[in-house]
Amino acid sequence: METTAGTEPVPKELVAVQALVNTIDLEDNDDQLDSPEALRRFLSGHGLLGASEPVGQADLALAVELREALRAMLRVNHGEPLDPAALAVVNRSAAELPLQVGFDDQGHPVLGPSAAGCRGALAVLLAGVAQASAQGTWERLKACSAESCQWAFYDRSKNRSGRWCSMQTCGNRTKTRTYRSRRRGGPES
Ligand SMILES: [Zn+2]
Repeated sequence: METTAGTEPVPKELVAVQALVNTIDLEDNDDQLDSPEALRRFLSGHGLLGASEPVGQADLALAVELREALRAMLRVNHGEPLDPAALAVVNRSAAELPLQVGFDDQGHPVLGPSAAGCRGALAVLLAGVAQASAQGTWERLKACSAESCQWAFYDRSKNRSGRWCSMQTCGNRTKTRTYRSRRRGGPES
């Protein structure tokens, strides 16, 4: 099969999903979503929410919960076992979001938000996940398998074998760590 794997862009329906998961840098514990206003900025930056739409604390809590539940699903995408607790959380967040099937102007069924506002914007993200899954691209969005990193990356490798957000940093670091712990004879840290 012809492949453009190395340069293939992240599918448009996954761009904001990936960006949401990466609103926190776990290594520095630097969370971009530290206020409802920050969430509004994030969503409007992705064209999902008007600049004057209200965003409250409950919306922020839901977005953060959804972010971490999606990260858990991205770990599943690189082969980790499904955590039933994470599954319950992602389904609980999904149930809070207004989603419906409608038909576009070509007559094609599309999953989309059934309400405006912040929850509608989060619903668009989840609809993107469903769409990507139908197109076979969802499985390529993964969380870096370096425990301390877990950065969301799009795996462009031919056989979907990518494990790290960056071979230069996380890949080498993980390998070095494994190598060192083998030399020490101690457990991996
Ligand atoms: Zn990484």
